[in-house]
Amino acid sequence: MANAPYNPTDHELARENRMLRGLLDTVRDDAAHNYEVMKRFQSRALALLNAKDLRDLLRQITAGMRRSFSLDTSRLLLVDPYAVVGDLLRATASQDDGVPRDIELCPNPVDAHARFSDTHSPWLGPWNDVTHAPVFGARLSGSVALLPLRQPDGVAGFLCLQSNDPQRFQAGYQTDYLANLARICAVCLENAVNRERLRLVGLTDSLTGLYNRRHLQHRLAQEMTRAQRYGQTLACLFIDADHFKQINDRFGHPAGDQVLVSLAQRLRRRLRASDIPTRYGGEEFAVLLPQTDAGSATQLAEQIRQEVASEAIPVEGQGEIAVTVSIGVAAFEGSSEPDADPSGERLLAAADEAVYRAKSAGRNQVWVAGDDAAAR
Ligand code: GH3
Ligand code: MG
Ligand code: MG
Repeated sequence: MANAPYNPTDHELARENRMLRGLLDTVRDDAAHNYEVMKRFQSRALALLNAKDLRDLLRQITAGMRRSFSLDTSRLLLVDPYAVVGDLLRATASQDDGVPRDIELCPNPVDAHARFSDTHSPWLGPWNDVTHAPVFGARLSGSVALLPLRQPDGVAGFLCLQSNDPQRFQAGYQTDYLANLARICAVCLENAVNRERLRLVGLTDSLTGLYNRRHLQHRLAQEMTRAQRYGQTLACLFIDADHFKQINDRFGHPAGDQVLVSLAQRLRRRLRASDIPTRYGGEEFAVLLPQTDAGSATQLAEQIRQEVASEAIPVEGQGEIAVTVSIGVAAFEGSSEPDADPSGERLLAAADEAVYRAKSAGRNQVWVAGDDAAAR
């Protein structure tokens, strides 16, 4: 039997019309919304690509992402087994320990990976204090998107985008945009770390891994200006190994090298992340101690001296080599007086002069610039 012809009434036509219009409105709204989302992703991608250095890039990945996508938190976990990123951040820090608060550095890749069910694509779902809090170093709530940052040689880290809204990130949502953004983050990170490393090679002493004299000059000028501007104290230690020539003569130059490496390690262990240890030359080290007065610097110097003197350095094939150091201490008091002269050279020269006096007085001593006797 043939179908009856469809002869809708005016009323039915009007209803159908309204429905189609409604559908059209929804499609138009969706298109406008998608366009908005795409624009936001594009501008975030551009900000990542235009980051001027590692620190700026990390800011774009965390705070920038939070702003762009109206998130409550954006935290980054970076796998850093050789402490490369940590060192770079500390090296380029102007204050505190240099690692931004919204970034966690994880020395053990296995630890990090074990907590993520997917290291290939974004994972969306509820925040879980038990699995997520230890890796991202924060207690959060709501929902999260966890984005693995994949690089050619493995996962460099995970970005956690968090919203207090439990509905915001849910399994099954489309994640193409997020996956693309994560890829861009990973590539930009790799580039920025490599660029920064290259730059630092020129500022680092290859034997000890400490900063070199060039970097000292640069940081000295910066730190003096800062101390002057904020009325803070900047202290400087000048450390010279005693009778080092005899160590070389007796045990050989390679053994002398190992002693220098150990001295640098001991020095580093005693310092705060914001301190600036440098190999000034040969067997001489200079350390800048921002926001440290002469008294605290002298205490630190005395601890270093004692530790070096009390623990001989094990050197391959040579047993243990006993070494001592002489240390000169000087400090600059920043002041609001416009005529106080923040000369870094003068600070260094004062610390150097104090070492000279420690040497003349018998070595293995700490002398403070301007004093007439050893610090003990
Ligand atoms: P003092 O107590 O007066 O400081 O005596 P010193 O022997 O330490 O001082 P001097 O300046 O006479 O000699 C420094 C020695 O340090 C001589 C040099 O061969 C050695 N030296 C400098 N750089 C290096 C290095 O990179 N490796 C090794 N093994 N030795 C070095
Ligand atoms: Mg010397
Ligand atoms: Mg010496």
